[in-house]
Amino acid sequence: MIEKPRSGWRVAPNMPAYEEARASFSWAAAEHELAGLPGDKGLNIAHEAVDRHCLEGRGGRQALRWLGRHGERKVITYAELSARTNRFAQLLAGLGIRPGERVFSLLGRIPELYIAALGTLKHRAVFCPLFSAFGPEPIRARMKIGDARVLVTTSALYRKKVAALRDALPDLKHVLLVEGGGEPGTEDLQALLARASDAYEIGATSPEDMALLHFTSGTTGTPKGAIHVHQAVLSHHVTGALALDFHPGDIFWCTADPGWVTGTSYGIISPLTHGLTCVVDEADFDAERWYRILQDERVTVWYTAPTAVRMLMKAGDELPRRFDLGALRLIASVGEPLNPEAVLWGQRALGLPIHDNWWQTETGGIMVANYASMDIKPGSMGRPLPGVVAAIVRRLEDGSVEQVDEPDREGELALRPGWPSMFRGYLHEEERYRKCFAKGWYLTGDLARRDKDGYFWFVGRADDVIKSMGHLIGPFEVESALLEHPAVAEAGVIGRPEPVIGELVKAFVSLKEGFTPGEALRRELLAHARTRLGAVVAPKELEFVPTLPRTRSGKIMRRLLKARELGLPEGDTSTLEAPA
Ligand code: AMP
Repeated sequence: MIEKPRSGWRVAPNMPAYEEARASFSWAAAEHELAGLPGDKGLNIAHEAVDRHCLEGRGGRQALRWLGRHGERKVITYAELSARTNRFAQLLAGLGIRPGERVFSLLGRIPELYIAALGTLKHRAVFCPLFSAFGPEPIRARMKIGDARVLVTTSALYRKKVAALRDALPDLKHVLLVEGGGEPGTEDLQALLARASDAYEIGATSPEDMALLHFTSGTTGTPKGAIHVHQAVLSHHVTGALALDFHPGDIFWCTADPGWVTGTSYGIISPLTHGLTCVVDEADFDAERWYRILQDERVTVWYTAPTAVRMLMKAGDELPRRFDLGALRLIASVGEPLNPEAVLWGQRALGLPIHDNWWQTETGGIMVANYASMDIKPGSMGRPLPGVVAAIVRRLEDGSVEQVDEPDREGELALRPGWPSMFRGYLHEEERYRKCFAKGWYLTGDLARRDKDGYFWFVGRADDVIKSMGHLIGPFEVESALLEHPAVAEAGVIGRPEPVIGELVKAFVSLKEGFTPGEALRRELLAHARTRLGAVVAPKELEFVPTLPRTRSGKIMRRLLKARELGLPEGDTSTLEAPA
C-alpha cells in the first residue's frame, strides 16, 4: 500500500477525502460548473472547451503546445483555437454538411486534427477520429459503418490508404487534404480555411445530440461505433477535476493518440474545459524525448499508458535522473492492467507513484480510479468515481445477472447507467447495444473483483478481444483479413501475453488444398495482413496448423488455441467439434 498524506500537500487535491466526496456528489450539481451555450441554447462540447474561455477573458492562455517530430514548436492560444475552429465550422457549413453528419479524420497528432475535432463539434456534426496507423481495411470498415461524409487527412495517407477505397465509399463526399496537393477527388483544406470566416455562432445544441463516434472492437462481427453525445462533456470535466486533479495553470500531457477514445476525451476535451495547456507530441515513443518533454514543458499532470510505462522501465532508472521532473504532480495511466511493479517503479524512479484508472470506449470517461489523495494498492484500478455505481455481477443461465456482494469474488464488472458520458448506442446496431445490459446494469465485458475496502482489481477480459499496446483488437477483423489471402482456409487469432506490449497478436492458419506451409508463405501472409490492417492490428506471429479447433456450432475456440499456446489446461472442451 502506498499511503498518501492527509495534509501538507504542495497543491491541495480537488478531492481531499474520497468517501465524503462520494456521499455528497451529484451530477446535477456538477452541471453548474459548465457554462452552457449563451442564450440558453443548450450544451456544446466545443463551447465548453474553447469559446467559453475567450468569453470569460482567458483567450490569451495557451491551449495547445504542439511539438513537431523534428523539433518544431507551435503554441496555439484559446483565442486562436477559437478562430481556427470557427473557420473549420464555417467550412463545413459551406460544404453543405448538416448537423449529425459524420466527419472523419485520419491524421497524425498535428494541429489540424485538433482544429477539425473542435470545429466539427461547433458545427454539430459528429467527429470520428481514425488512428493514422490503420491500414485500408479498418479504415474502410469504419467509414462505411459511420456513413462518412467528410474525411480530413494528408496527401500521403490518402494516396497510401484511402484513394483505392473511394468506390467502396460512395457517401464520402469531401476529402480535405491538409497540405492540398491536388489529388483527384480531393480538396485543399488550407485554401478552404483561408476562404472561411473567423466568426461562427454555434447553433442550438441539445445535450443529447450525437457528438463523437468512437470505434471499438468486438470478438465477432464488424467494429462497433460507440455513440457519444454533447452531454459527455460533463463527465470529461468532472473526471478531469476528480481523477486527474486538474488545477488552473496545469500543463497537461496525455500521450494517447486522438484516434483512440483516451486521446479525444483527455487529449482534447477534458483539459480544455479546464482551460489548461495541453502538450501534444507528434512523434512516436522515445524514452529520452519523453523525459525531455516532461522537463522542458514543465508538465504537471501526465496521463499515459502501461505499455509506455513498461518501455520507460526498460530504458532504466538512470535515464530519468538526468532530467528535472520536478514540475510533475500527478502521473496517471489507463488502457490495460498496470503491474504493481510499475506503480512502485514510478515512486522510485520518477518520485511519484503511477495512478491506474479504468474505463473503456463505451463509458466515454474515467469510471474507476486511484485518486490523488487516496492510498494506492499497487495493482488495483482504484475505486469508482463519485457519481458512478460499480459492482461485480455474475451472469445467469437465463441471461439475467446477479450481484456478487462478497469481497474478492471474481465476476463481471458492471456499472449502473446514468453518468453523462455513457455511450448512447452502437451506430446501426441496436441489438448489439441491447445485449450490453441486464437487470439495469451495463456489463463491461471485463472480469474483476472488489476487495473489502472497495478497491477494484482487474482479472481479465470476459471475451477474446486482444489488448496490444493499449489498443483493443478484434480477432475477427484480423482473421477476416487473413482469409482474403488465396492460400488461407481458416484463421484463428489470439493475444499471447507479452511483458512490454501487453498482448502480442498471434495468428493460427490452416491452408487450402494445394498450398504447403513454409517460411516464404508465412512471411507473405504476415506482409499481406500488415498491408491490409496496418502495423498496429496485424499479427506479429503466425503459425500453420492442420485445422483449427471449433465448437459444434462452428465458432473458432480461441480460448483453446490460447490455452495450448500457453501450455495451460484446456478447460471445458465438451463443445469441441472434433479433436483438432
Ligand atoms: P478501449 O475501449 O479500447 O478503451 O478498451 C477498454 C478496455 O481496456 C477495458 O474494457 C479493459 O479491458 C482494458 N482496460 C482499460 N483500462 C484498464 C485498466 N486500468 N486495467 C485493466 N484493463 C484496462
